[in-house]
Formats: sequence, C-alpha cells, structure tokens
Amino acid sequence: MEKDVLAKNALLAERNRGWLEGRQILALNVMSSPGAGKTTLLERTIERLSGDRPISVIEGDQATARDAERVRAAGAHALQINTGTGCHLDAQMIADGLRRLEPAAASLLVIENVGNLVCPALFDLGERFRVVVISVTEGDDKPLKYPHIFRTGDVLVLNKVDLLPHVSFDVRRFLDFANRINPRLRIFQVSATRGDGLDAWCQWLKSSMQTTA
Ligand code: MG
Repeated sequence: MEKDVLAKNALLAERNRGWLEGRQILALNVMSSPGAGKTTLLERTIERLSGDRPISVIEGDQATARDAERVRAAGAHALQINTGTGCHLDAQMIADGLRRLEPAAASLLVIENVGNLVCPALFDLGERFRVVVISVTEGDDKPLKYPHIFRTGDVLVLNKVDLLPHVSFDVRRFLDFANRINPRLRIFQVSATRGDGLDAWCQWLKSSMQTTA
C-alpha cells in the first residue's frame, strides 16, 4: 500500500520536475520541525531577493493561511495548501498548486512543507533541492534520530544561531552527526531574525538560479 502510494508520487514528482525545469524555475522543498523558523527565513529571503527575480511560495500547513499571508506581505506570490489531518505535501498537491499559482519562468519557487521531520522526507515533490532547517533550540542529536531527512537532503540550514549563548546546543557535535549521515550536505549557519549568514544563503540561491536559467 505504502509502496504504491510512493511509486505513484515518484511518477508525479518527475512530471513536476520536468515542468519546472522546462520553465527554468528553481524549486526548493523546505522541511523542518514546527517552529524551526522556515517562514521567517523565507520572509527575509524574499525581502532580499524579490527585487532580482519573482518568488512564488507554496505553503503547506494542516490549517490556516497565516504563513501564506506572511510571505505575501514580504513580497512573494503565494498559495496556501491545507492538508487537514495530513502530515506532508505530495506531488499531486504541488501539481495542482502550480496550475493555480502559475509561477513565472526563470523564477524561484519555494515549497514550505508541513512541519515535521518524518513524513515530508518520504515524498519527492519534483524539487531541485531539499532544504532541511534545524534550529538550535532543538536537540543537537536530530541527525541521528531522524536520519532519513538528513540523508535525502541537499542543504542544511542551522537557524537561530543568535540563541546559542542561551541553549546547550553543541554546533560541532551536530555538524559531526549531520556529516556522518550525509557528507554531501551544503551547510549554512544563520539567524533569520538577526541576519547572520543570510548573505551566504542568498548568494547560494542566486548562483543556483543562474545555473537553472
Ligand atoms: Mg511556517
């Protein structure tokens, strides 16, 4: 049953990937626990980059349109998807969302997945990069406890580094664990609220958009 669902999803995800690549749209699938700061990171990213390129966002949450409203206020074109009792977005939801959102050619599309480290990791959405956001208010052993999302990720953003003096999070231990699970991860250490590391993160996004175009 689960195998059938995943096989069907993989097929639809490939279709999404082709659709996006054909339009030179760089698509990110952003995943994290609730409260790691995905939406805040997005707001700051949109403010910095939307002058360069149009940015579209697909927001996944079980309920409300709060995050879509936030990223819209920051300057993005946004669509909210509510999953009800569902714990993740799937490729069909993204296909439907793309039809409604109509993102511009050569733009950036950010998909903010439903907040948890388990189900979103199983479903390919057709993205180019999988971005995992972890905050320093979580445990530094997350890579060992939830290895699948780290193993299948391309980019790891460690957020809220401004809070490091106040928490027991050990950055070296965390990076060592993450590296053990997936040595190919590209890592950014940021504080979306204070601004640390956002230059490097936005620079990487810009150069990735150039290679997509
Ligand atoms: Mg959010």
